[in-house]
Amino acid sequence: MARVLILGGTSEARRIAERTADAGHEVTTSLAGRTSQPQKPAGRIRVGGFGGADGLAAHLRANAIDALIDATHPFAARIAANAVAAAQQACVPRLKLLRPAWHPTEGDRWHSVATIEAAAAALPAGCRVLLTIGRQELGPFLARADLSLVVRTIEAVPALPSAVRLVRARGPFTLHDECALLQSEGIEWLVTKNAGGGAAAAKLEAARRRGLPVVMIERPAPPPGPTASSVEKALAWLDQVIR
Ligand code: NAP
Repeated sequence: MARVLILGGTSEARRIAERTADAGHEVTTSLAGRTSQPQKPAGRIRVGGFGGADGLAAHLRANAIDALIDATHPFAARIAANAVAAAQQACVPRLKLLRPAWHPTEGDRWHSVATIEAAAAALPAGCRVLLTIGRQELGPFLARADLSLVVRTIEAVPALPSAVRLVRARGPFTLHDECALLQSEGIEWLVTKNAGGGAAAAKLEAARRRGLPVVMIERPAPPPGPTASSVEKALAWLDQVIR
């Protein structure tokens, strides 16, 4: 039996936790604590930051962790960098699970940008926009009083201006759901992060079908060291390091 720490907050993290627990290992998933009612993974759960890379390294040592799987979201760059540094400090093998990014296909009208600020700047004045970027980084869009904003988030957003429409919902969403939302809200532009994976991809197909332009915020650079592009590959890596 091995002790495995999974940095979670994604559906892949839950799938790895389930498979690892089923295999008889002692698995703990760490959640940042951003969501008030997170979907519960198998095994143990701990919630909240570690206090930087040093705190995470101390946690790895104190809990005699044998392997660390960073299955956080591709945009969670700080915890990914901390995981690299902490694993080095504590001499624990670490893997980053990085699901493949989305790529435009025929009919897509993507405007790829590198930052949230560039995404806000890319939108034409007066347009009706659906923001599917979470609730932490709305600032640059809220600063554009000339935009008509629809924000979709899981959690409530405190102090949102009354002119901004909030749609609270948790994915995955079907193509039918997404087409209906774009139509009922009169959406003209979609803003999304290049999260990749299947669970959030229906909005891209819906935008394509409706001929809508998409501001695609591209990913930060991946952390150094080994990566796996799927749950199966991450489990194969775990199997190898545990042996
Ligand atoms: P981040 O900017 O990379 O991390 C900020 C800080 O939050 C980290 O330094 C760490 O605090 C803490 N943290 C992040 N993930 C953690 C985890 N799994 N367990 C314990 N502490 C964690 O992270 P973020 O982009 O805010 O994302 C936070 C969480 O939301 C992640 O778990 C991620 O998987 C999930 N998520 C993020 C996005 C996104 O777009 N960024 C989308 C969907 C889900 P300390 O330094 O104190 O350890």
